[in-house]
Formats: sequence, C-alpha cells, structure tokens
Amino acid sequence: MTGGKITRIKGVGEKKALLFERLGVDSVNALLHFYPRNYIDYSKITPLSETVLGEVSCVKATVFAAPVEHRIRKGMTLYKFKAYDDGTPLNITIFNNKYQAAKVKAGETYIFYGKIGGSLLWRDMAAPEILPVDYAKIRPIYRQTESLNTHYIEKVVKSALEKAVIEEYLPDEIREKYKLCKLSEAIKAIHFPENFKELYKARRRLVFDELFGLQLGMQVMKENRKIANSYEITADCTADFEKLLPFSLTGAQKRAINDCVGDMKSGKMMNRLIQGDVGSGKTAVAAAVCYTAAKNGLQAALMAPTEILAEQHFNSFIKMMSGTGLEVALLTGSTTAKKRAEILSRLKYGDIDLIIGTHAIIQDDVEFNKLGLVITDEQHRFGVNQRALLSAKGNNPHVLVMSATPIPRTLALMIYGDLDISVLDELPPGRQEIETFVIGGKLHERAYGYIRKHLDDGLQGYIVCPLVADDEENENSSKIAAENYAKKLKNGAFKGYSVGLLHGKMKSAEKEAVMHKFASGQIQLLISTTVIEVGVDVPNAVIMMIENADMFGLSQLHQLRGRVGRGKHKSTCILVSDAEGDEAKARLGVIKSTTDGFKISEEDLKLRGPGDFFGNRQNGLPAFKIANIFADIDIVRETKNCVTEILENDPTLSLPKNEPIKKEAGRIIEKMGKIEMN
Ligand code: ADP
Ligand code: MG
Repeated sequence: MTGGKITRIKGVGEKKALLFERLGVDSVNALLHFYPRNYIDYSKITPLSETVLGEVSCVKATVFAAPVEHRIRKGMTLYKFKAYDDGTPLNITIFNNKYQAAKVKAGETYIFYGKIGGSLLWRDMAAPEILPVDYAKIRPIYRQTESLNTHYIEKVVKSALEKAVIEEYLPDEIREKYKLCKLSEAIKAIHFPENFKELYKARRRLVFDELFGLQLGMQVMKENRKIANSYEITADCTADFEKLLPFSLTGAQKRAINDCVGDMKSGKMMNRLIQGDVGSGKTAVAAAVCYTAAKNGLQAALMAPTEILAEQHFNSFIKMMSGTGLEVALLTGSTTAKKRAEILSRLKYGDIDLIIGTHAIIQDDVEFNKLGLVITDEQHRFGVNQRALLSAKGNNPHVLVMSATPIPRTLALMIYGDLDISVLDELPPGRQEIETFVIGGKLHERAYGYIRKHLDDGLQGYIVCPLVADDEENENSSKIAAENYAKKLKNGAFKGYSVGLLHGKMKSAEKEAVMHKFASGQIQLLISTTVIEVGVDVPNAVIMMIENADMFGLSQLHQLRGRVGRGKHKSTCILVSDAEGDEAKARLGVIKSTTDGFKISEEDLKLRGPGDFFGNRQNGLPAFKIANIFADIDIVRETKNCVTEILENDPTLSLPKNEPIKKEAGRIIEKMGKIEMN
C-alpha cells in the first residue's frame, strides 16, 4: 500500500508530517515520488595524493590517533585528528560534534567526504562526512527544509520502500515496446541506485510516466469534454460580421473563425485555443465568434486580465457592434455599484448579449440568462480555476481561450493538449517592420533626442521604466521608481512635451484617463511600467524605449515591443542595457534579430526553461518533477505516440488490460484539476 498517510512510516510523527507537507509530500506515495535532486557517488574514491585542492572529494584514509578535543571558546569545540592514505596525511577537523568525534577510532579506515584543503604536501578537510569503509554507494540528496535534512529524508524513504507495494499500471507490451523497467524497480533505483546505469533506467521510466500521465490526462479530459451541448448554433453569421469591420479579415482570421463556428455547430461543446502573435488580430476573431453566438440567441462573456484591456475591448466591440441591435456591457472592478446592479439584473434577464470585463464577471452574484460562450483573452494570465468559474456560469458553454504567447508546438501539445488549437500565423497587411536597436546607457541623450524627433512629427512613444529588482512583488517600489523617473524626464529631456505616467498602483479610473489621453493623442509620451505589456493598441505610437532591457524575459520584451508597429508608420524599439554578460547579450540579440514570436519563445524557453517562461504567477504548465521537455524531447514524442495508440484501440479505456491505466488517468485528472493558479 502506498496511498497511506506519511505518519504510518516509523519515526514520522505529526510534527515531521507537517514539515513534509511543506515539501509537497503528504502521503507515502508522494514520498516515494519525491525524487532526489542530486546524488553523491561514494563509490568513486580518489587517492588522497591525487585530490585537487578546493574540490569536494571522497577519500579513504586510516585514522592515526583518536580525535583530540580543543575548546576554542564557549560554544565552540573542535576535534582534530590525522589520518593517512598511502603515506599522504589528511588533517581532519570536526566542529562541535562530540558524538561524531567519539565514533572515530584510531587504526580504523573510513571514507571521508568533503572539500579538500591544505597544501602540496598535506591535505585537510573540515567537517567532513565520515562513513564506514565499505560504504561504496551512490547516495541520494534530497531537497530539504528546516529540520528535515537529506539524511533524515533518506532514512524515511528507505523505511517506506521496505513496506511499499508498488503496483505496475503499464501493460507488459508497452513496457517492452518502449524499453521501460518496472515501476517498482524504477522507484527503488531513483532513490537508491546500485550504479549509474540503473539510475538512468529508473529516470527514463519515471520521465516516461510523468509525460505519459500528463498527455493521457489531457486527452481523456478532452474526450470527456466532448459532451453534447445545449448551445448548438445553426446560423453562421461571419459574412455579416465582416461587413461591420473597416478592414477585411486575413486568411488566418477567417480560418480561426471558421474553426470556432464549426465547433459551435457540431452539437458538442467548443474547447478551442486561438494562438496568435501580438498584433495578429485576435480581437476581431473573438468579436466574430461573439457576434455569431449572440445572433444565435446566446449570451457571450469575454474576460480580460486588466481593466485597460477590458475597456479597450469594450470600446472596439461597441464600435463594431453599433447598429447590430446587440447589447454590449462592460463590468470591471471600477464599475459603480449602481451601474453594476443594473448590469447584473439585465444580464440575468437576458437583456445583455455580450459582457466584457475583468475578474469582476466571475464573482458569485453575476448570473446569466443563457451564457453560451465564454472567452478569455491573454489566457496565461488566468488560472484554470478562473476559467472554470466563468464556464460554470453557463451550462457547459462553448469555451474559447486566446493567447498571445506563441509557444513551440511540442509545448503547446503539453499545455493545451486538452484543447483544439487554431493558429493566427499571418499578420494583417500593411504592418510596418519594427527596427530594434540595443544601446548602452551612455547613449540615453541621443535616444531621447531621437524620440523627441518623432514626437515633433506628431507621433507618439512609450518609455518603459527601469525595473526595480522586486518589481513584480512590490508594486509600491515600482511606483516610486516610475514616479521619480517620469519626473526626471518631464523636467529634463522632455520638458515642454506632454508626458503621461502609467503604473500598476494607480486607480483604474486614473489609468483609464491616462490611456484615454494617450489614445486620443493628448499625451505624446507615455512613461509606463509593464502594465502596458498586454494588448494595448494605439497605432499612432511608433517608438518605444525599454530601460534595463536585459532584466525582462524575451517573451515579455516581445509583448512590450508589440505595442508599436501597429499602424502605417515605420516603428522603432530601443533597448537600453549595460549588461556585460554573454547570456544577456545573446538574449537581446534574439530580440534585435527577429520579430517572430514563435522563434523568440523558443529561444526564451531554451534560455529559461518552461517553469520560468510563464513566470510563476502566470503558470499554465504543471511543474515537472523529473522530466525536462528539452532534454527529454524524444520521450515527449514516444509518450505522445503511446497515448494515441492506446486511445485509438480503446477510446474509453475499458479493456481489462487498460484498467490500471484508466485508474491512473483518473488520479492524474484529479490532480490537474487541483492545479491552483494566480
Ligand atoms: P492582438 O492579436 O494582439 O490582440 P488586436 O486584435 O489588438 O491584436 O489587433 C491589432 C490591430 O490590428 C488592431 O488595431 C486591429 O484593429 C487591427 N486588425 C485586426 N485585424 C485586421 C485585419 N484583418 N486587417 C487590418 N487590421 C486589422
Ligand atoms: Mg489582444
């Protein structure tokens, strides 16, 4: 049995159990899957004379005389002794550890593990680990927390393993086909491998399981969601919608809209992701889909991550939908109580066809009459739960999520395996190229001059403030930094120009007022923190300068830069950085060399890894325990094929041999549902 509570293991009481919980270990099973973060190889012993000063080594030496106690001062006692390996002396010091010192016997040989100090002729080691001479093992090192050190965890894992019965859930034929060892062997060997070959095999099996589980869970969820839907639409209104636009849709937009309408007509629920680079025109796609749903008698809701964005969508929807008879409303945190009450009652009554807003629309008291379509924009800003809350306001409504974070295909399959995907791989015509420069801080004045020239021509620009180190966490310090920076520019380089400031600490009404002034041209230069990152659309803004550019993630820089180059003018982006490191230079080089969001995200992923890629708060990706989707890309493919094969032969997993897999899938789905975000 591995499902039990961790307190069932000998030596683990309630107190320790709480500490284990902090490591995410809340059951025996979780403990067995709490893999070591590293290993120490005590089987590789270096002759003392060949050790390198300053390196951590494992040596074997015979104790010459028992440790001698030295009281240095109160609370500091040293135990010193000498040991020899083949004539080379090793001076060893133990600190304050009477117990350890007492165990060291003259004439005995031990393994000493620690950092080598000393000189050419003799070696020393301070506070080494001292092990029996026959301890030729690879030892696991665990992530530790206060008073749960790696050795204690090791002991607990060992005693758990003695009792555990680890059930196999992969059929033999799959294990053979993909050359996988048994799960029980893998779990044992990942903690206590006999040798590195065994460790490798164990890792392969566990990586396979992790990726297999994720993909299986996603696919099964996708199947489960393909439920009959009471909001089947009958009329395709795309052609009518297109007449409302001042432009014609791109081929990619048409395809995406078609995909969505097809889904909504299918009688099953739509579950689709629209992926499109910044500026690819996702809003128009969303509007077309909303329009179609509304014309078929359904209510639709569009949720955006910020008020600025929600307001912007609202304004463009109002423009598009005027004269269509459709009722569009905006609901955000700054909607007045009176207005809110009115909107809620009209929504419930079915008087509003289309509601656009922020989190405000998922609050408990928001009720719909017939919510048939929910859309989330910039979905990576929302957690699965928030999306679920929005969906729960209808009876399995159609779901559309939109993302401006283009991600490589393999990763998309991992994260969005449960969704159908449409890609907007074409930008609207007439887009101007954005020229990007990287400059050092000493060229500031010239850059300011260049920006002034644009403002003098009636164009507008952005300057993204220097990031303070803990910008994300502490909005207050970023507010102060932004205010000081803006003041400096207002009184200096941009004296006489109309300069606005935008930061996350401002009230939404203030933000809106500033954005409004900027959009209408009253503000020439907008100084801003990263709050402009998502979605803001002002075509007359053609130049952007980003301070401390090296401190941003590549995808974030790409998003920021996407605020310019949206109109008919040639646009410029100036990245200011004094970073010396090769990596920083390489990263800025990527931004300079391409505006292709897919390429950039691929580089970003390579440089930062998927965990950081989305930022911890914006995580849509489960944290992998052991898999690394770059290093293990072959296993990603293998598991994908494996899952496809299993489900093709047995879509409902009802064959007896697949019974354990079905159970496993259930467990995984339960876990996925629990991923909390934001
Ligand atoms: P994003 O995909 O980044 O959300 P938007 O939907 O904000 O992009 O669109 C960016 C800009 O392109 C907007 O000003 C929008 O009006 C315009 N646009 C969208 N589709 C087209 C099109 N087919 N032709 C011309 N302009 C378009
Ligand atoms: Mg957008």
